[in-house]
Amino acid sequence: MPQRYAYFQKQIVPLEEAKIGIMTHAFNYGTACFEGIRGNWNKDQGQLYLFRVREHYQRLAKSCKILGIGLPYTEDELYDLTLRVVEQCGFEEDIYIRPLAYKSSEILGVRIHNLDDDFLIFVTPFGPYLDIEKGARCCTSTWRRVDDNGIPARAKVTGIYVNSALAKTEAELNGFDEAIVLTHDGHVSEGSGENIFMIADGRLITPPASDNILVGITRDAVMRLAQEELGIETVERSIDRSELYIADEVFMTGTAAHVTPIIEIDRRAVGTGAAGTISMKLQRLYFAACLGELEKYSDWVTPAYAKVANA
Ligand code: PMP
Repeated sequence: MPQRYAYFQKQIVPLEEAKIGIMTHAFNYGTACFEGIRGNWNKDQGQLYLFRVREHYQRLAKSCKILGIGLPYTEDELYDLTLRVVEQCGFEEDIYIRPLAYKSSEILGVRIHNLDDDFLIFVTPFGPYLDIEKGARCCTSTWRRVDDNGIPARAKVTGIYVNSALAKTEAELNGFDEAIVLTHDGHVSEGSGENIFMIADGRLITPPASDNILVGITRDAVMRLAQEELGIETVERSIDRSELYIADEVFMTGTAAHVTPIIEIDRRAVGTGAAGTISMKLQRLYFAACLGELEKYSDWVTPAYAKVANA
C-alpha cells in the first residue's frame, strides 16, 4: 500500500512521525519558504512524472535568500532527496510535493537573523484544484496583493499565504471559485494561488513580475508552449481590471490549478462564457508535456519510478 512519507530532520520517516514543537519560529511568525511540485500519474505508462523539479528548487533558493534562510543542500541533493521520498511513498495517482525551508528555533523573537534553519519535504496525494474542464468563476477580491515593500511576493513565503487565504475564502463564501487580487495601485496581480493570463487580439497578456506576482513555473511553461507550439507571443505588462471583462479569453496557471479557463469575472461572462479555445489548446499541450508525452519538453519531467508498472 502506498503511504505518505516525509524527509524530516535529515531522515525519511512516515508522515505521522514528522512533528514540530509548538514554539517553532516558523509556526509562530510565518518565517518559512516553500514550494509545491506536482507529480502527474500517467496511467497508460504506469509512471509518475514530476514537473520541473529543478526550477522549483531554483525558486526556493531565491526565496530563502530573501528570507535569510540557509539551505545547506545543492540543487542536485534536493532533486535526489525529492525522488527518494516520492519513490518510498509509491503513489500511483497525482501527488503534491511540499518542500519547506523554515526558521526552526524554538524561541520567541520577531526577526529572521540568529535563528536555526531546517528543511523538510512531505508528499501527499492531490487531485484537481479548480474545475479545469468547465472553467472557474472569479471575483475581484477586496483584499490587495502584498507589496514587494511589505512581504516580497516573488518569494514563496508561508506568511504571505494569509493574504491568499483571505482572498480565497472571501471568494468562496461569496459563491465564486477563485479570487483575482489587485496590486495596491489597482492593477491585476494574480489569483490567490495562480498566475493569470488574458487573450486579446490574438495575443497573450500577463502581468509582469513587478506587479507583485509569484513568478510561476507553470506561467513560464505556458508562455513557452504558446510561443513554440501555437506561435502566440506573450506580452508582460500591467493589466487593468476592466480589460479582463472584455478579453476574449482568460485563464489561470499554477501547480495546483494547472491551466484553468476563467469563464466569468465579477458576474460578467468572459468571451462566450465557455472555456476558451486557445486556453483549452494550451491546457492540452501542458498536460501532454506534464505526462511525459511531448519529447521536446522531456527535460521538464522526471519519471519517479525506475521500473514502469505496466511495462
Ligand atoms: N501565485 C501564487 C500566489 C501561488 O501560490 C502560485 C502557486 N505556487 C502561483 C502563482 C503559480 O506558481 P507555479 O506555477 O510555480 O505553481
